[in-house]
Amino acid sequence: MPKRIQSFANSVLPPNCVFVGPGSKWENHSEVVENPDGTWCVKYGAVTFSHKSREEAEACAVRLYIKYLANDGSQAGQIRDSGGAALVDAAPDELRGMDLACTCELGHECHADVLLEIASWGERLDDLREILDDLFS
Ligand SMILES: [Zn+2]
Repeated sequence: MPKRIQSFANSVLPPNCVFVGPGSKWENHSEVVENPDGTWCVKYGAVTFSHKSREEAEACAVRLYIKYLANDGSQAGQIRDSGGAALVDAAPDELRGMDLACTCELGHECHADVLLEIASWGERLDDLREILDDLFS
């Protein structure tokens, strides 16, 4: 099973691993930041979402990424309005079977987990095709 590993943009990656963190085309455009008072926030372009804990802020950042992926350009406003849908199309081809590397600590929510899920859709489609072929051959 493909998995997520922690790495950095200029690190040497193990074989069969794609860097999806900051600076890559797969990056999450939101940034999780600790405030001086110990609360956390997510900065997304000019918009800031406030949260009580790091875990809440990280979950928010992943939700924003899902919205970005789901956006076909028809949603205006806070969420970046292009690019996400193309990543969903590309993920099964480019990320399927690959481990994904991000700067996020393991054990914390990360957009790479969403990409791992999307990349696996291709395998499920192949499984489904095999089942259908068996049924109708
Ligand atoms: Zn990450």
